[in-house]
Amino acid sequence: MRKSFIVIATLIGVAVASLFLGRQGKSEPPVTEEKKDQQTLSNKPMSVHYIDVGQGDAIFIETPNGKTMLIDGGKKSQGEKVVSFIKDKGYETVDYVVATHPDADHIGGLISVLEQLNVKHFIDSGKVHTTETYLKMLQLIDEKNIDFVVPKLGDAIDMDPEVEMLVVNAVEDASNNNEASIVVYAVHGQTSYLFTGDADVSIERQMMKDFNIPTTVLKAGHHGSDTSSALDFLQTVKPEVVILSYGENNKYGHPHDSVLRNFEKVGSMIYSTAESGTITVTSDGKTYRVDAEPWNTLSGLININTASKEELQYLQGIGPTTADKIIQYRQKQPFCTTEEIMEVDGIGPKTYEQIELKIKVK
Ligand SMILES: [Zn+2]
Repeated sequence: MRKSFIVIATLIGVAVASLFLGRQGKSEPPVTEEKKDQQTLSNKPMSVHYIDVGQGDAIFIETPNGKTMLIDGGKKSQGEKVVSFIKDKGYETVDYVVATHPDADHIGGLISVLEQLNVKHFIDSGKVHTTETYLKMLQLIDEKNIDFVVPKLGDAIDMDPEVEMLVVNAVEDASNNNEASIVVYAVHGQTSYLFTGDADVSIERQMMKDFNIPTTVLKAGHHGSDTSSALDFLQTVKPEVVILSYGENNKYGHPHDSVLRNFEKVGSMIYSTAESGTITVTSDGKTYRVDAEPWNTLSGLININTASKEELQYLQGIGPTTADKIIQYRQKQPFCTTEEIMEVDGIGPKTYEQIELKIKVK
């Protein structure tokens, strides 16, 4: 798994000579996973903080050697919160700031970051936007003479020898901002992280083609919108943990029910910044922990094995007669899957389609 990752990174990486290029140079033979762990892993922790910035993204990373990266800064109104968070962790300098794409809920807060912290390298999608915030961001980078880089697909970010970081999506000339999202894949020993920005389903498909990126912790694309997190993508990267970053009662309806069901189908534990506030994942190269309670997304659903006759009738297309039949069915033997409800007389695929996202079996 790691081997193919290195090989692909090397193939793509050699074409691009940038300051990012680290240890994945052409001449160096790939090392085995075991050897590499022995060679480089110090057991020092890597911490990834998914800062609660309401509707938006802001992720602060501390690598084992004490380097830092901020991926997005939330909306402008969240900038002070992001700066305080970083200062409270003891930093005045951020080594890398990544603006995944120029939407306001990602770059707004970076204005405060650029004004109040020292930023060494600024990684930008290159996607030009005409907003005042975007122009202000560029102006600050220029005034402070910050190293400004637009990465190419497959570039490695050479931040810490214990953490392999790779840019797995970079489309400067994308037709929309979300598609331009820089996606960063980070591997710390046995734990891997995927930071997707607002990359959509088409980008997920492309990344699956270009890279082998098994993922332990996935930041769900586009705040849990159904424009991202396709089932085939999730079945490929197999996230154990999914982090959703969004604001409570946002006007977009994020996250979408169908996306939550996709995470459940692949068995991911789901965490939400709207439910838990800031979420920190810490890895030591071998194992990881999440300092929040998983979000029980099924709590609002109707359990067809225990619901009363009245509750069953909340479901579209289920009247008193069908509710009785559901109860008779489960008395013989409980439903094992939600699909099994179609065995009940009077419930066909059409009704099931209407109620699928509203029911559970345990
Ligand atoms: Zn967004």
